Amino acid sequence: MRFWRQLRWQMIGAQMLVVVVGVVTLNLTANILIEQSIAPDQVATVRTAVVQALTVAAVAATIAGLTTSILLVQVILRSLRSIARSSRRIAAGRYDERVTVPASDELRAVAESFNQMAEALEQIEQRRITMIGNVAHELRTPLAGIEGYLEGLIDGVLPNTADTFLDMKQEVRRLRRLVDDLQTLSRVEAGQIALHFTTFDVNDVIRRVVAQIQPQVLDSCLQVQFAPDQQPILVHADADRVAQILLNLLGNAVRYTPEGGCITVRSELNNDNVQVIVEDTGIGISAEHLPFIFERFYRADPSRARTSGGSGIGLTITRHLAWAMGGDISAASAGIGKGSTFTLTLPRAG
Ligand code: ADP
Repeated sequence: MRFWRQLRWQMIGAQMLVVVVGVVTLNLTANILIEQSIAPDQVATVRTAVVQALTVAAVAATIAGLTTSILLVQVILRSLRSIARSSRRIAAGRYDERVTVPASDELRAVAESFNQMAEALEQIEQRRITMIGNVAHELRTPLAGIEGYLEGLIDGVLPNTADTFLDMKQEVRRLRRLVDDLQTLSRVEAGQIALHFTTFDVNDVIRRVVAQIQPQVLDSCLQVQFAPDQQPILVHADADRVAQILLNLLGNAVRYTPEGGCITVRSELNNDNVQVIVEDTGIGISAEHLPFIFERFYRADPSRARTSGGSGIGLTITRHLAWAMGGDISAASAGIGKGSTFTLTLPRAG
C-alpha cells in the first residue's frame, strides 16, 4: 500500500511543480511586456489584473490536473489491486480465477497475460489430478489380482501350489513394471535422464534390438524384416536410449499385430537427420485415437492393451527420450486393421 500512496503523491507533486513553473514564467514574461508597452501610471493596475488572471488560471489548472491524475491513478490501482487479489486466490489453489480485462491497451495486455498464466496453471493442475487418478486406477488392477489370490489361499479355494504362486508373481511383476515405468516417466519429464552422446551406426542398434525381440516374434508367429544397406548410417545420440525406444516400438508392433503378420524396420538418411521407421501389418490406429497415443496412460483400446500388460505410458517415455536427444517421433496409420507406422527421427552425426 505504501508504494501506491507514494506513487499518488509523486504524481500530485509533479503536477504542482509544472503549474508553479508555468505561473512564474508567465508572470515574468507579463512583467517585461507591461513595463515596455504601458504608461507608467497604469502599470500597477495592469499588473494586479495579470496576477489575478494568472492566479485563477493556476488554481483551475491545478484542480484539473489533480482530478485527472487522481482518476488515472485510481484506474491503474483498481486493475493492479484486482490482479494482486487474483494472484492470492490462485496461490491458495483457486485455479479458475481470472481478472476482468480493462479497456486501456496497456492494462489490457497485463490482464490478458495474467489470465493466460492462470489458464496454464489450471491446465497443469488438471493434468496433475488426472495423473493421480490414472496411477490409482493402474495400481488397482494388479493389487486386486494379488488380493484375490491371497483370499483364495486363505479360504482354501485356491491350492497352495507353485502354480498359484507363479500366477501371483505375474501380478507382482505387472506392478513392478508399472512402478518402474512411472519412475522413468517422472525422470524423463523432469529432464533428469543422464544421456551419453556418442556417434554410432544406427543399423547396429536396430540389429541388436531385432535379435532381442526375436523370442517374442516367434512366440507370436510373426516375421520381422530388416535389410539395411552396407554403408553405416551414423547418428549422434545415446545408443542405449535409442535401443530403449526401438524396443518399445517393436514391442508394441509385436503386441498389436495378429499372428502371421509382418513387421518391417527401415533406416533412412535425410539432409540433417536419420529416420528409423517401424511398420507393422497389425490392428492399426483410428484417426480419432492417433493424435493422443503419445499422451500418458492413453490406450486406443483399453481392454486389449490392459490384458496384454500395457500401461499406456511407453510411448510417452519414448517421445520424451527422442526429444531429449534432439529428435522426435511420430505415428501414422491408414486406420483400423490397416497397420501402423512409427517414425523415429534422430540428429545425423557430423
Ligand atoms: P501400451 O503400454 O498400452 O502399449 P504405449 O504408450 O506403448 O502403451 O501405447 C499407447 C497406445 O497406442 C496403445 O495402448 C495402443 O492403443 C496404441 N499403439 C501403440 N503402438 C501401436 C501399434 N503398433 N499398433 C496399434 N496400436 C498401437
